[in-house]
Amino acid sequence: MKAAGKPDLFRRIPSVDDLLRSEDLGHLIAEEGAPAVADATRSVLSRVRQEITAGGMDSVKLDLALQGLPQAIERQARQELSCSLRSVINATGVILHTNLGRAPLGAAALHHIQETAVRYSNLEFEVSAGERGKRDVHVDRLFQKLLAREAAGSRSVSTIVVNNNAAAVLLALNTLAEGGEVVVSRGELVEIGGSFRIPDVMSKSGATLREVGTTNRTRISDYEDAINEKTRLLLRVHRSNFEITGFTEQPALEDLVDLARKRGLPLMEDLGSGALFDLGTIGIRGEPSVLDSLRQGVDVVTYSGDKLLGGPQAGMLSGDTGLIQRMRANSLFRALRVDKLTYAALEATLLSYVKRDYDAVPVLRMMSTSKEDIGARAMALAGKVQPSRISLEVVDGESVIGGGAAPSAVLPTRVIALTAKSLSADEIATRLRASAPPIIARVEDGRVLLDLRTVFPEQDDSLAKALQSLASG
Ligand SMILES: *Cc1c(COP(=O)(O)O)cnc(C)c1O
Repeated sequence: MKAAGKPDLFRRIPSVDDLLRSEDLGHLIAEEGAPAVADATRSVLSRVRQEITAGGMDSVKLDLALQGLPQAIERQARQELSCSLRSVINATGVILHTNLGRAPLGAAALHHIQETAVRYSNLEFEVSAGERGKRDVHVDRLFQKLLAREAAGSRSVSTIVVNNNAAAVLLALNTLAEGGEVVVSRGELVEIGGSFRIPDVMSKSGATLREVGTTNRTRISDYEDAINEKTRLLLRVHRSNFEITGFTEQPALEDLVDLARKRGLPLMEDLGSGALFDLGTIGIRGEPSVLDSLRQGVDVVTYSGDKLLGGPQAGMLSGDTGLIQRMRANSLFRALRVDKLTYAALEATLLSYVKRDYDAVPVLRMMSTSKEDIGARAMALAGKVQPSRISLEVVDGESVIGGGAAPSAVLPTRVIALTAKSLSADEIATRLRASAPPIIARVEDGRVLLDLRTVFPEQDDSLAKALQSLASG
């Protein structure tokens, strides 16, 4: 038999319509709809044509390819139509992992989103008066409860919410210091992951950075000497992701407050993580809280919603009501404001704080879980795996808070340490990432470490199955 030429091969390719009418694709069309299946069919057929053109197809190969078309179309459709953003198991023990979505939301937040965001809501409507309202009232009243009463003394404290803490800093600097100078210590010119740099945000805000002191030492007199008629603001930035140790000096917050009062300037603090919860109660000392800063007299505090607070991505500005009103009136506020999903998640999260129901906030629950409880879960999980190709051991380790809490803020934990004779630690980690859902682990000293502090207990079974399949090859 004469080998078929390319035109003959092309002629044997069925049309999209023929394929869509075939029984084999009926179930796929019922599930995903004909237009999407038609798209996937076109992609698959075009690949077949490309292969013929490239000379990589003979009659036999083409027959095989044509027989496998329904399966190839289904694979293509499933892949095109699956979500790229998906859930993973965080076994790193880093509670606020910026690459893994920072704070997971609690059930109450999800429920409130469902209640309000998939229907109409009173986002900007005063129901009793039948008039237009303000979207910030929904959370400001809760921040009032959590901060204002205790913190303010005679001061009135308000809170507004923007897209994230970077936006909060931008809005505050632009409102309070555009065209003027902001005094900051050289020891606090931080860069946070994802290229948030104080000097860059400063220049975008239209304010001029006035650096004082040195990297390791800044005195109150350095701030004092830098103040001139152009000064609009004193800024303190929490050193979120690094520590300066050794020969260091930084003025006490109360000295900065006194200086600001004396010179009639506002004092702002970018806290970064912004705990609304006293971390001292779970053994983490030295992490400043929003309440502490306000109590000590800071005029405006900025902090993230999805770090220690444990809510949705957002940036809060809490402080003196007069200053906060000015920020709300800035047209940038309109550009940086957050949507109803964020308000819903934030309101529900703050309600858990008001009720002192800290276990309802996943990051707070993870932080306060004891090493013993994590160890017991780790032993139970390791016990479900029949080790053959891998060996498992439960050992002491450290969980990391992350997300701009003090870098030394670690929590004692128990971790499952994995090793295999035939696989390197990196190879094990790669295989774990290929599980469904992907499992993200830490590699340390040639071992893969799984810290259950950041794994939800309902994910333990799925982790055990992935380990079992790794163990049995
Ligand atoms: C994390 C952090 C930011 C940025 O906050 P986002 O909410 O990620 O925008 C800014 N400043 C400090 C000190 C931080 O720790």
